[in-house]
Amino acid sequence: MKTLLNVLLGSLAGALAWPAAALNVFTCEPEWAALAQELGGDKVSVFSATTAQQDPHRLEARPSLIARFRNADVLICSGSELEVGWLPLLFTQSGNARIQPGSPGYIEASQYVIRLEIPKVIDRALGDIHPQGNPHVHLDPRNIAKIAEAVTARFAELDARNADAYRARGEDFGKRWQQAMDRWRGEAQSLKGMPLVVYHKDMSYFINWTGMREVGSLEPKPGIPPTPTHLAELVEQMKRSPAKVVVYSPYNNPGAAQFLSERTGIPVAPLPFTVGGTPKAKDLFGLFDDTIERLRAVTK
Ligand SMILES: [Zn+2]
Repeated sequence: MKTLLNVLLGSLAGALAWPAAALNVFTCEPEWAALAQELGGDKVSVFSATTAQQDPHRLEARPSLIARFRNADVLICSGSELEVGWLPLLFTQSGNARIQPGSPGYIEASQYVIRLEIPKVIDRALGDIHPQGNPHVHLDPRNIAKIAEAVTARFAELDARNADAYRARGEDFGKRWQQAMDRWRGEAQSLKGMPLVVYHKDMSYFINWTGMREVGSLEPKPGIPPTPTHLAELVEQMKRSPAKVVVYSPYNNPGAAQFLSERTGIPVAPLPFTVGGTPKAKDLFGLFDDTIERLRAVTK
């Protein structure tokens, strides 16, 4: 009898030792899913609404997404209106109060960093202008460090039972990230001052961090697809003052970058942009490793 009880108690303890994930995390973009996984480990179950191949500005609020949204305890999105075209619909359709703006479960990553390109005048005729500044904040590793601290604090608040575990993971990630940043700073030295053409203004934080120089974009205005007139102008501009590289992200159509490259001889570098964007960008560390490596490769 006693043995049976011991077995029962033993299996109960076993079940308690491996509980289901404590927090369901809904993220809008893969970089935040990767960060949540780093910081939450087996205490979290993480979902990303978009993959690296999908445009985070535009997404269909399909039923499967609404179901995920309804079950979420935490939401992590870039914010600053990046998801303005689809996230509000998920909020109204899911009725999930835990992750509504202002609640502890709502994390808008861009609110924890200094935003670039805050417009002085809001004129929608200039394209997808974000009044709160450029929302693509994740490609400056210093921003990732700040956002990681905010996410750790929020995880600990929402799931107090595992607070110590989140803090330990947060500290470990912070150390590894700092070491990686020191290495990247050295590796990115040769990128300083390098002129580049972007597809969309989604590289601004990386450019600001490395000291590269954006001299043109394939989109005539943010969010407006490349036009023949604009591309013809860029070709002329590049003949007068050539960029070193033309970059684009996996969710962009590569055609315009190739067009410009063929007419000017400037090399093209497809960049991962986010986690999962290239085979090497398996996590946040790989994302920066591969982005820097690909840009260095075209300058050699
Ligand atoms: Zn954008």
